[in-house]
Amino acid sequence: MDYFPLFCRLQGRRCLLVGAGDVAERKARLLLAAGADLWVGAPDFSPAFRHWAQQQAVTLLHGPFEPHWLTGCWLVVAATSDNAVNQQVADAAEKQQIFCNLVDAPQQASAIMPSVIDRSPLMVAVSSGGRAPVLARLLREKLEAMLPQHLGKLAQRAGALRDRVKTQFASPSGRRHFWERFFSSERLAQTLANGDEDRAAQITETLLSADPAVRGEVALVGAGPGDAGLLTLKGLQLIQQADVIVYDRLVSDAILNLVRRDAERIFVGKQAGYHCVPQEAINQVLCEQALRGKRVVRLKGGDPFIFGRGGEELEALAQQQIPFSVVPGITAASGCAAYSGIPLTHRNHAQSVRLVTGHLQKTGSLAWQTLAAERQTLVFYMGLTQAAEIQQQLITHGMRRDMPVALVENGTTPRQRVVSGTLGELEALADQVASPALMIIGSVVALRETLRWF
Ligand code: SAH
Repeated sequence: MDYFPLFCRLQGRRCLLVGAGDVAERKARLLLAAGADLWVGAPDFSPAFRHWAQQQAVTLLHGPFEPHWLTGCWLVVAATSDNAVNQQVADAAEKQQIFCNLVDAPQQASAIMPSVIDRSPLMVAVSSGGRAPVLARLLREKLEAMLPQHLGKLAQRAGALRDRVKTQFASPSGRRHFWERFFSSERLAQTLANGDEDRAAQITETLLSADPAVRGEVALVGAGPGDAGLLTLKGLQLIQQADVIVYDRLVSDAILNLVRRDAERIFVGKQAGYHCVPQEAINQVLCEQALRGKRVVRLKGGDPFIFGRGGEELEALAQQQIPFSVVPGITAASGCAAYSGIPLTHRNHAQSVRLVTGHLQKTGSLAWQTLAAERQTLVFYMGLTQAAEIQQQLITHGMRRDMPVALVENGTTPRQRVVSGTLGELEALADQVASPALMIIGSVVALRETLRWF
């Protein structure tokens, strides 16, 4: 270990910053955020420093560096554009045994400033010991994205609960279990993220009082149409915390690779035409796992509420009073359209877009008259086997035979294939593609020629 990581309290403690340019400004912001009593020494000051001085947030020392500036300081930062001056500051600090950070030569400094992810009171600091600052920054950005904003509030709430938890749970393992439930409760996270303090307090009470046997919860997470990059950050966080993942055929391998390694995976594959696992059985799996106290993620292709039967699964959970939450996903229509260069609406072509199920129980169950109307885009999910019917009904109800159509197979994945033509050819086109595929019908489809990238 080249450096000893340490978080120090700077509130009200004198710190010296030598230099008053752009780099010094960034350091000043950090030191001010930590509440330091900041003294800044330089011959000239940028407007930001003059502004802070006016507001009495900093004290300015005019002129070239003088060692006596260090008197009474806890920490020094040398941030001038002149290496020799910075070195002079470092030498003076060394003599007086004050930690010093050097902006241009961190490895020669007695203190380095890490990249910080601030979810106060929770702080994460990343450092490469001055060797690869860009790597540390990239890592910081990744962590920044992985750590939800509400974590700070969660940590604050935990701090306030510590004494109560100590009295309520006598054994250390009881306390540990409580805290694990507390920090992984998706409902609590969601309410804190929404700033709903009252509801958060209610959920905290339930967590404190609930019977340990009934503490699971289920999150319905939309996995998007295939490309793992289209998973939401929230979805990613949940699948990395889950004890059990219940998924089906539409969830891509790329997404499954992101699931926590030791989570239990239950496949409840569904395919049009035959249901490997009937919906009731899926509902039952979800309830059973949650009632065992597990954090269950029901991972669904696209968005859970768009032809995903998410509503039915939630009804089953609600019936058993199992807590649940829903994380939306990018639905196949958005994903396939974006990845094939078809804007679903366009000022000159379509003022509305309709997401329609092609999984028709009986002919005539759809309002074909309205579907065939002008200036809209139709997107059929699960429509492949009904292509002939869709073609015939739309033409019968007045849609022109040469209306452009596109079929997108395995949209957003490396295996994406787009087949296009006209409504009159829909049935023949459908024979050329395999499930999962989406049908897009409307004049926007023609824009693909100009909008797709090569
Ligand atoms: N909840 C999902 C839809 C489930 S219905 C969503 O919001 O996207 C299943 C149908 O979605 C498939 O029959 C197919 O029509 C469509 N679909 C899902 N993923 C797809 C993909 N990657 N490419 C093309 N179509 C897809």
